[in-house]
Amino acid sequence: MDNKKREIAIKHDIKKAPKTGNWRYMRPEVDKEKCIGCTTCVPFCPDVSIEMKKWKDGEKDKADIDYDFCKGCGVCADVCPVKAIRMLKK
Ligand code: SF4
Ligand code: SF4
Repeated sequence: MDNKKREIAIKHDIKKAPKTGNWRYMRPEVDKEKCIGCTTCVPFCPDVSIEMKKWKDGEKDKADIDYDFCKGCGVCADVCPVKAIRMLKK
């Protein structure tokens, strides 16, 4: 896939996308205290299921997973530099 196609693939509007269902293989859980808000995980998610959301006043936005789209592949947990995402059995 060239870069232009990849950009299109990861920029669809998750709020308008049809939900793919809440089934998944594993359940990623973000430890908001560990997350440093680096956004590394966001573009890696093949299901565009991670958004950065306000967590606490004065703190960086933290990764938040939309379970209506996430399919539990574990890529986000793998790329997180501080291991803030744990993959749990559903
Ligand atoms: S487990 Fe996979 S699908 Fe779910 S948020 Fe992480 S990268 Fe995206
Ligand atoms: S990669 Fe890890 S530290 Fe960075 S935003 Fe995602 S969960 Fe947070």
